[in-house]
Amino acid sequence: MTTSPARVPAPSDNSGGRPRVVVIGSGFGGLFAAQALRNAPVDITLVGKTSHHLFQPLLYQVATGILS
Ligand SMILES: Cc1cc2nc3c(=O)[nH]c(=O)nc-3n(C[C@H](O)[C@H](O)[C@H](O)COP(=O)(O)OP(=O)(O)OC[C@H]3O[C@@H](n4cnc5c(N)ncnc54)[C@H](O)[C@@H]3O)c2cc1C
Repeated sequence: MTTSPARVPAPSDNSGGRPRVVVIGSGFGGLFAAQALRNAPVDITLVGKTSHHLFQPLLYQVATGILS
């Protein structure tokens, strides 16, 4: 059985020829990667499951009242 390749519409190119970087995930890794590239001559698209970042470190301490 053969399958034909998925057709991906060509993006409208208004980037001026800059490379496009897609960062998958908006956790610490994704956010720091996007931040590190903020002055690079690239277009960045950040793809996340949520529109917020849950700050997990010390979550247990906050949840249990050890930290305010
Ligand atoms: C309760 C808790 C407490 C912690 N406390 C500490 C601490 O005190 N100190 C410490 O150093 N570390 C702590 N950690 C660990 C720290 O949070 C992780 O090491 C860190 O978040 C890992 O970062 P990451 O970017 O690799 O992954 P994540 O932060 O998990 O980010 C991954 C992101 O990718 C997204 N994603 C996944 N799949 C897809 C998809 N298919 N499409 C789009 N988006 C997707 C997720 O929604 C998420 O936003 C804790 C972790 C937890 C759970």
